[in-house]
Amino acid sequence: MTLGRAVCIALLGITSPVPAQTPNLGTKHPVAVRLGTTHGIDVASIDRSVKPGDNFYLYANGKWIARTTIPADRASIGRFNELADRSDKQVLAIIDDTIKANAAPDTDARRIADLYGSYMDEAGVEHAGLTPLKPELDRIAGIRDKRQLSAALGATVRADTDALNNTNFDTPNIFGLWVAPGFRDSEHYAPYLMQGGIELPNRDYYLESSAHMRQVRTKYLAHMTAMFRLANFSNPAQRAQRVLALETAIAKVQLALEECEDIHRANNLWQASDFATKAPGLDWTAFFNSAGIASQKSLYVWQPTAIAAESALVASTPLDTWKDWLTLHALDDNAQYMQKSLNSEWFAFFGTELGGAEKQRPRDIRGVRLLNDNLGQAIGKLYAARYFPPEARAKAQSLVANLLAVYHQRVEAVTWMAPSTKAEALAKLDRLQVSVGYPDTFRNYSGLEIRPDDLFGNVQRAKLFEYHYQLSRIGQPVDRKEWCMDPQTVNAVNLPLDNGLNFPAAILQPPFFDPEAPDATNYGGIGTIIGHEISHTFDSEGADFDAKGAARNWWTPADFAHFKAVTAALAAQFDTYQPLPGVHVNGKQTLGEDIADLGGVNAALEAYHVALAGKPAPPVGDFSGDQQFFIAFGQVWASKTREAALRRQLLTDPHAPAQIRPLTVRNLDDWYTNFNVKPGDKLYLPPERRIHIW
Ligand SMILES: [Zn+2]
Repeated sequence: MTLGRAVCIALLGITSPVPAQTPNLGTKHPVAVRLGTTHGIDVASIDRSVKPGDNFYLYANGKWIARTTIPADRASIGRFNELADRSDKQVLAIIDDTIKANAAPDTDARRIADLYGSYMDEAGVEHAGLTPLKPELDRIAGIRDKRQLSAALGATVRADTDALNNTNFDTPNIFGLWVAPGFRDSEHYAPYLMQGGIELPNRDYYLESSAHMRQVRTKYLAHMTAMFRLANFSNPAQRAQRVLALETAIAKVQLALEECEDIHRANNLWQASDFATKAPGLDWTAFFNSAGIASQKSLYVWQPTAIAAESALVASTPLDTWKDWLTLHALDDNAQYMQKSLNSEWFAFFGTELGGAEKQRPRDIRGVRLLNDNLGQAIGKLYAARYFPPEARAKAQSLVANLLAVYHQRVEAVTWMAPSTKAEALAKLDRLQVSVGYPDTFRNYSGLEIRPDDLFGNVQRAKLFEYHYQLSRIGQPVDRKEWCMDPQTVNAVNLPLDNGLNFPAAILQPPFFDPEAPDATNYGGIGTIIGHEISHTFDSEGADFDAKGAARNWWTPADFAHFKAVTAALAAQFDTYQPLPGVHVNGKQTLGEDIADLGGVNAALEAYHVALAGKPAPPVGDFSGDQQFFIAFGQVWASKTREAALRRQLLTDPHAPAQIRPLTVRNLDDWYTNFNVKPGDKLYLPPERRIHIW
């Protein structure tokens, strides 16, 4: 039951309270960026001294790896970063023009200019010091009892988790709220309450006994102590100890990522009145009131045991400990928008210790990320108009149509599926809502107050504005053409409850997609990614949602048993990979994504052959069309990641690390013939051990 719908989540925004492998985008790195200069595979990056059958990833990327160093301000570097760099520069140009245009007040153009201006006003931010946070710290200090505590916890809730689309299961707030089509009524939006409460990337950071994790916790204590001290609190070390103890207690009751990904555990619809009996501890009336959801008759509870246990911790843990927890979270979650001393301490721990980056990204690029996070669709509207011409959209749409046609044939040709299951699969495919480039309609931010000299207030208001927007959707009819990514985002995503896909404009650029490149490169690049997202429609998760996005498993038990057996073998295959000595991929955690990669590359290769229509493929150097296809697939995953970030990814990401993903090809017979892979080669699998799903 694994999901993780986006094709890659390694590119989180800087305003994420915990930068996964960020800040990892930038403009000043020495990597030879070939964007826009050549079309087709990057021959200069291939390392011919490596046998493709021994390590296909190194073969396709060895020279790139040798000449690439990870810039000091990043946790990783790779093709996704190159594209994200391009997107950042494009957005920066949009911001510059918007500033020059000097737009009228209360327009989105004005908001863009003023939010960016407030971020770049470092002197103003420094001068403000702790003052912007003072009212919040005073409110926390003034909490007198558990009812007031419950209200304070409710006031922190934001729309910052996402179980099925962008797959973000973590929030430092006690709970997160996700608004999405309802499990039991997929025609209307409903609220989902999700576990939260910890600052470290996930529960393993608190519970694992390895030397590495013990060291992280020691440094976390020192970091928290420093934050309390910088904010002039007494007894900083004792406060830090108490926060760590409370967060550890929360981590113990949280569900592991693998369990969070199982929707069968998540389909729990509680009436508002149930919370007091099913999850006693928190004063739920006070909590719902201040969270702005007092009028909700019911909510889905994603992790009921964790939410009940966290609620119990509100009752059983001393009030002062919770006040320290609220204080530390207020400091850590806002440090990026505050004075340098807090910001630097925050980055030293979350950026350097947990991510491995030596320094922060340049401020202008962080400003871009801030705008993407808070005015994403306003930027996206301008981005799509400027950078994604109708011809590129049409070409990408035709690629999508070819992939869909191939999937249709492949599902029809499967021999192990019962006719009833097959009919449901085809209905799902035919109803799939594929959105390419940008949404047909964009949101505007009318009503959001942005001031040119108030960064802290701007961010608070923007997050609250987003939360209120999400709340306003509850009970409304579902828009199946909705987007959960912005056009300037380098990623792609499957929305299971909508039976829809989003392919943002920013990923539809070289090296993933280049209208001037040979078909082999486009099918090996964006084609495999389109195929990846389509595969999610039919995988173990897709099986739980029907053509209308309703949560209804449409597989016969026998079909599902077959699928489980085949995919268990794929999980076992991924378990064998060791991205770091002694540290394995968790094949169960990454299974849904690994299935999608396998399905995607198979379908894209076939779609490529269909596109050739019997004509010979133009060779590039001595590489045939099929070889170019496989190399293009291997090359989109070129990347280098610092050890701390890689360790973190292995624990928290439903995707296998980038250097593992191209090894998927060992399951394709065509790869063996095209690269002359023989028994004895390290990646060689005898035909009966190659995994075929679709
Ligand atoms: Zn995926």
